[in-house]
Amino acid sequence: MPVLFSLLTAWIAPRWTARRTQSASIWAVWITHATAIPSIGVLSIFLAAIAQRGAPNSLKYFIDEVQSYSDTLLSEFRDHLLISILAALGIYFAVELIHLLGAVLVMPWGAQDEPMKRSFSSALRQVWLRTVHIVPVTLLIASTAIGLNHLHASWLEIHPLPDAPPHPSYPTLLPSDPNFKKAMEDYQSESEQWDKIATPIYAEQDKILAMRPWYLRRQELFIVPTVLSGIIWMAWGLLRALSTLRCAEPLEHPPQCEFCGYNLTTMPVEARCPECGRDIINSLGSDTRPGSPWEHRKEIGRAQAWWRTFRAAVQQPEEFGLRLCACKPRIDHRSFIALHLPLVFLIAAASVPTVFWIKALQFNTPNQATRVGIEFFTIGAPIFGSLCALAALAVTLAAAGKVAFEFVLRDKRNLLSVSMQASAYLMPYLVFWEFFGAVTGIWCIWLMDTPWMKSLFDTRNINRFLVCFMIWFIPNVTIGIYHFVLVRRITRAARWANK
Ligand SMILES: [Zn+2]
Repeated sequence: MPVLFSLLTAWIAPRWTARRTQSASIWAVWITHATAIPSIGVLSIFLAAIAQRGAPNSLKYFIDEVQSYSDTLLSEFRDHLLISILAALGIYFAVELIHLLGAVLVMPWGAQDEPMKRSFSSALRQVWLRTVHIVPVTLLIASTAIGLNHLHASWLEIHPLPDAPPHPSYPTLLPSDPNFKKAMEDYQSESEQWDKIATPIYAEQDKILAMRPWYLRRQELFIVPTVLSGIIWMAWGLLRALSTLRCAEPLEHPPQCEFCGYNLTTMPVEARCPECGRDIINSLGSDTRPGSPWEHRKEIGRAQAWWRTFRAAVQQPEEFGLRLCACKPRIDHRSFIALHLPLVFLIAAASVPTVFWIKALQFNTPNQATRVGIEFFTIGAPIFGSLCALAALAVTLAAAGKVAFEFVLRDKRNLLSVSMQASAYLMPYLVFWEFFGAVTGIWCIWLMDTPWMKSLFDTRNINRFLVCFMIWFIPNVTIGIYHFVLVRRITRAARWANK
């Protein structure tokens, strides 16, 4: 029952739904997800019908469409039974594989101190329930497109476009046919005739179309933000649902030395560790693992807290790792990530028109910059910006997951909740990496077409595109690898965490 309820609420109240469904049987969740997939297919056919025929007569059209589609499918199925079954299974497994990989990627987000199997199963549960969310996102995008389409059609009814005659058809004769040469000559002269008549008609059409109101000429101003906000809405819903605290029994860990892992059961707190000689109070005292500076931002101020967190995570990763709590669920690192995402978006969005502008300056074609420039702002920049923000999230999650997987194999302890914090607190490092990547990338694109690069490499027959790519790639990939190293060093310091 709560799972059925999630069909209605998963997209508005992801956290509430997640709390309701956390104890539902995994099979009920899977069935919801599995039935949502064909429903999305049917919904898409219905929406396409509305878009083509308009709303009033769409029900009949819809039924006809579904009928003819299922007839075609059935006859195809009968004719190629084996291939059809294999194709259906292939599509099914591909869809499920995408969901599984998605669950592996997002697993660190809501991981607690628990067996890794449970981190994964609760992530998979939320990823499966998210399939339902595709329905309102599809409806949102389709209603925007259909609305614009409708406005466009009604405008064209008032301002009809002159019809151009149909283009003469290409001769269907084979080249070996004796009449082929004659037919080709006829076709060419007909085409020339057609050109003379059609060109002024098309010019007239363009003139009329240019008179459309701005919202019909620049439809991408509505479509692009709608599609992007649909995707961001789904990502938001998934992360919200994953961040719900799960009521799981806390794992029992024996008291351990935080520095060497020695089992400290029955040892007095005033003593020293028999293995490494450190004071036991540093492992079991109440002052251990106070949390990141960011968790104390109310006392020390946001700017100070941000700076200390960033500096400690990059300069002293081991000391920073000793501060992070591993056993109790933490939430502050999420606001730290959210703080940086607008910056990631802006850097990426700004780099798109900058590339274009620099190329226009280099080739001395300022006209082109102003002509195509507007699409770079309305389509290129927001799409690239949003993709980079999602990519930054994915890198943060992937780094946390990869590092934790390494430790679960070696130390048999699920450190996802620490590696996620480590990765989150390295967000300023990612922003720096993105900025460096954008600046060096733009510089290399400029460098590629400079006269001296051309004279240096073209004369020696070396691919200058490859040279510039390597100049950009090597430092950037190094910075990226060091990000993994930092996440690993921070997480490592929590292998024997007591708190
Ligand atoms: Zn020790």
